Amino acid sequence: MKQKKRKPSYKKGRGRKKLSIRKPGVRKTGRQRKKRKAGIWKHIRRKWSRRFPGIENVWLDRAAILITVMVLVSAALLITGRVRRVFSSQAAHPEQLSSLKSDSDGVEILPAQDGPCGRPEIEKDYIEPNPYSRSQIELKKVKGIVIHYVANPGSTARDNRDYFENLMNTHATKASSHFVVGLKGEIIQCIPLDEISYASNQRNKDTISIECCHPGKDGKFNKATYDALVRLAAWLCDSYGLDSADVIRHYDVTGKLCPLYYVENEDAWVRLRKNIQKNLDNRNNH
Ligand SMILES: [Zn+2]
Repeated sequence: MKQKKRKPSYKKGRGRKKLSIRKPGVRKTGRQRKKRKAGIWKHIRRKWSRRFPGIENVWLDRAAILITVMVLVSAALLITGRVRRVFSSQAAHPEQLSSLKSDSDGVEILPAQDGPCGRPEIEKDYIEPNPYSRSQIELKKVKGIVIHYVANPGSTARDNRDYFENLMNTHATKASSHFVVGLKGEIIQCIPLDEISYASNQRNKDTISIECCHPGKDGKFNKATYDALVRLAAWLCDSYGLDSADVIRHYDVTGKLCPLYYVENEDAWVRLRKNIQKNLDNRNNH
């Protein structure tokens, strides 16, 4: 009955008129605006009830409420997810990193830990503080991991670590790296994780750097180096609440062809990142 009553009044144009009394340049009062909003809803409901004559208005109202609630809930979930990510971007597991910060000194072998995101074995051998390779400037936040290649085929992790330290005598350049991964998969840490290294230009201030050794001129990592790098990067990502998208190349910062092979072979770089992500995905199953 209700619908029958309304139909003719709409046909006469009452509903339409309400919606179209809009004079350009004339501002509507709040009351008018409210009226108009209610008018729109009535208009939509009328349209729908004409299209589905079997459905009662109550159900249309309920459907509208349900859709509104769903939209609001999904918006809330999206926002809280983002917020959580922002808060978790710093040290998800700070206890894992404490041993690699400056509070402890001297050469030390840190044994490997179990699990796909466990720490790999690391030889901690910090270079002596000096303005050319260890400035001791504080690294306040970590937003990414930057991968490099040493560009010196056949050189070992030890060679590269010592090269960085020797810059305090040669003054040849300013350069260093938090980690160097060697040809046998050995990992040497040169800089504590709460100090910046000189490796990634404008991203020195918010990234951890990893230099990788390679046997040939093409810069391709051998299996031992590759596997150790994947483990190290996954462990760092897990510790800092990052994911594989936050692992970048020196190339992505400055356009430098570093790490050469993984700049010239984009598919190899994508695969490397995927392998890191695989470790991160497997951490909960372990
Ligand atoms: Zn580099």
